[in-house]
Amino acid sequence: MTRIPLIAGNWKMNLTVEESVRLAKTMMPRLEAIKGVETVICPSFVSLKAVQDVLKDSSIKLGAQNMFYEEAGAFTGEISPNMLAGICDYVILGHSERRRIFGETVEIIDLKIKAAIKNLLKPIFCIGETLEENETGRTEEVLTHQLMASCDRVYFFGGLVIAYEPVWAIGTGKSATPEKAEKTISFIRHLIHHRHGGEIADAVRILYGGSVTPDNITGFIAQPNIDGALVGGASLKADDFVDITLEAAADKGISN
Ligand code: PEP
Repeated sequence: MTRIPLIAGNWKMNLTVEESVRLAKTMMPRLEAIKGVETVICPSFVSLKAVQDVLKDSSIKLGAQNMFYEEAGAFTGEISPNMLAGICDYVILGHSERRRIFGETVEIIDLKIKAAIKNLLKPIFCIGETLEENETGRTEEVLTHQLMASCDRVYFFGGLVIAYEPVWAIGTGKSATPEKAEKTISFIRHLIHHRHGGEIADAVRILYGGSVTPDNITGFIAQPNIDGALVGGASLKADDFVDITLEAAADKGISN
């Protein structure tokens, strides 16, 4: 089974519309020239339309960073899946910042994933353990809980991508070691195999996320179960994001 590597950039709550357009314009031709890797950029909601215009004739995909699960109604400040449909290809759901700062539970995240799939948006479904959970040996228990709450067979046919992001590695400059990330990601794939069988487990793309840079991507992408990266900080620098993508292509044996 060949899984196309995916590099996704999460711009988080950074950049004005003008700055987002400028960054997208700088990255776009350079990313477009890289063969064999799918790339996704995820700007803030207000920049989505403008960045969509920049990317429209390219193969670079657009993603949102969040959404609500209802289609319309009295939900002040929220964005619905059908508002994103037709603009975005992907949507990041379950990011640890949403879980931790905004109180999103596994039930809420599952409702969001279901709504995304219904609207033909591919979820980038983030799971990961905190430092305390890691240090007390609870990583597998926590990941099982997070994953099994949103493990409907339909999601995988809808293009769901999983991002394993240890919370202690996000934005800290302290990434997991490639070997530890591989071990955990292979555990995640094993859980999916157990639930849905080998065909689905072999096809689903599982990314690593947490302080990925051009200097450490090689170690992650070289692992057999790691299919790419969800990149935060380094995705805000055109050179770094392009270099990460180039390294991903090179390590998967694709010459550019
Ligand atoms: C993220 O926001 O998902 C992330 C992994 O951030 P960083 O790369 O900055 O650690």
